[in-house]
Amino acid sequence: MVLKPPSVPPEVIQTTDTAWSVEQSSEFYGVNDWGEGYFDISPAGNLVTQLTFGDKISQVALLDIIQGMKDRGIEMPSILRIENLLDERVSALNEAFKRAIQTYRYQNDYRGVFPIKVNQQCHVIEEISDFGASYHYGFEAGSKAELIIALSKLKDDQSLIICNGYKDPEFIELGLYAKEMGLKCFFVLETPSELPIILEISQRRGIEPLLGVRIRPTVVVDGHWNEGSGDRSIFGLSTSSLIKVVEELKQSGMLHCLQLLHCHLGSQIPNIRNIRSGTLEACRFYSGLIEEGAPMGFLDLGGGLAVDYEGTRSNHHHSMNYQLDEYCVNIVETICECLDPLEIPHPVIISESGRSTVAYSSMLLFNVLDVRDHRPVPLPATLPEKCHELVHNLWQVNQVVTSTNFQECYNDVLFYRDEVRELFRHGQATLSDRAIADNITLAVLEKIAALLKTTDKSYPALDNLPEMLADTYYGNFSLFQSLPDIWAIDQVFPVMPIHRLHEEPDRDALIADITCDCDGKIDHFFNAQGLQRTTRLHSMKEGEEYYLGVFLVGAYQETLGDLHNLFGDTNVVSVHINADGSYDFVREFHGDSIADVLSYVEYDVRTMTEEFRQRAERAVKAGKISAARRKEMMKAFKASLDGYTYFEKEQH
Ligand SMILES: *Cc1c(COP(=O)(O)O)cnc(C)c1O
Repeated sequence: MVLKPPSVPPEVIQTTDTAWSVEQSSEFYGVNDWGEGYFDISPAGNLVTQLTFGDKISQVALLDIIQGMKDRGIEMPSILRIENLLDERVSALNEAFKRAIQTYRYQNDYRGVFPIKVNQQCHVIEEISDFGASYHYGFEAGSKAELIIALSKLKDDQSLIICNGYKDPEFIELGLYAKEMGLKCFFVLETPSELPIILEISQRRGIEPLLGVRIRPTVVVDGHWNEGSGDRSIFGLSTSSLIKVVEELKQSGMLHCLQLLHCHLGSQIPNIRNIRSGTLEACRFYSGLIEEGAPMGFLDLGGGLAVDYEGTRSNHHHSMNYQLDEYCVNIVETICECLDPLEIPHPVIISESGRSTVAYSSMLLFNVLDVRDHRPVPLPATLPEKCHELVHNLWQVNQVVTSTNFQECYNDVLFYRDEVRELFRHGQATLSDRAIADNITLAVLEKIAALLKTTDKSYPALDNLPEMLADTYYGNFSLFQSLPDIWAIDQVFPVMPIHRLHEEPDRDALIADITCDCDGKIDHFFNAQGLQRTTRLHSMKEGEEYYLGVFLVGAYQETLGDLHNLFGDTNVVSVHINADGSYDFVREFHGDSIADVLSYVEYDVRTMTEEFRQRAERAVKAGKISAARRKEMMKAFKASLDGYTYFEKEQH
């Protein structure tokens, strides 16, 4: 296998460094744990994305792709999509079900659908439709807009369209027309009130609907979304409404339209036992409906297939204690166990896996703009005479801290430091007192951190010490726009440098974004030591960019994002990796300009330009600036409007 060397920095393996190895980086950042084999580190310390072609592995360094973006004028931050990694996930899911179906001699097929809400971006949907056609892979639509996407983008006529969510007459009419054209478009009833409208319109148009019922499973699942499961679920029919729906269908002679049972347990289900019990419960409902005389034929188990964001293979919220094959086997086996004794024919198995299908293929790449280093400046040999008494107390603590008293010293320094700050607020300590106090405190905390490393005992009271001493790396991205789940639900994503991985990451760090919002930070990391408030990054090098990546961000992040501080959509690039290790830029999408985001909040950019022009003209009249300067100012104003909302190093 020949690897294409990345262009910047040149693929030189530095031997001057310490004994740090790429294997250590791989272990620290857990690349093999969360990466599902799609990522690795090259001997030169670059993070590579890799795909298998027959018996060959093709690797491309992310740094190389960033260089390619730069050459095309696509700046950081940027979402990078690997098109064939998405294909790979679609294929993995379908092949895993195929294997389970063969193993259990299951007498029907698997027909997956992709839930559009998980990533609605046009080129994600088009790629899924193109590649998925050979598997008859369809779409799940939860709204009219999503149904319109499915109706226009679906390539394969045998694929299913599953319509969930509230359906108004327009939605229903569209779905019926789809059915008339030969598409298998199911309406899943979420509430009994939908049925009369569907029946009425279908009668009026003379088109019979394909119907499904969504049940409310009582299995309470683990994980973050468990509140939506069980009896309190806000979606689906209660058992009594289900009976009512069946009765109404019988009365109107339409029971033969009821062919599908839908059951969605929740998203990111970390525990395989929940999948099993949910499937079992769904099967019970399924057989109950058959007993009632509905033809059935389709069993839709919804989403929930998890992604191991932590890489711990556990039942933690952001992990999963099973693998894809196990998921499929558990479903197929449970259906057989439940339906075979009743001699009920095997239904078509449908799943609506969103997260697991799209998470891997997208990553957020950004450069670091600045680092705030929390190291104390060297302390003077003695304290200045006129320091406040409390500063002298702090100084004293610094003299006496040892491995036997550091917990006490920790409490003392924080107490004295806070006292000095309090006095400063009341005008009883000077700015210089405060500066010296802060600095001595840092010096003592640093000593304590060093002492802490020499002991095996744990000191829970000192848990946030690393965080207090960690550097802040300022990243060129907005958490609210690109990683909203970190803010909303404390989601943990893998975060790591994409180069210099043959060097030891020598700084404790947390990552702040550029929104200047105190919530705009990444301060939960999963690494070799478990969940940590800080991670380790490399010291910045003068004149050299430092790039970080946040991984597994393809699901839910892109459209949940908001315009906090008016940072808009980022650039997006899709690449396709070839068998020979080269890659093609297949699509690029330029993120929002400042003019774009202003128009989203209903500013009229032309009026604003005119208002600025008038201001400049008044300044010319008042003799504050020259007309030539006015021209320059107008040019700068217009260039800013056209510019990217993120930090740009070069002016246009
Ligand atoms: C959100 C949702 C899904 C997708 O769930 P994942 O856990 O992302 O696979 C599937 N079906 C329904 C009904 C949903 O609401």
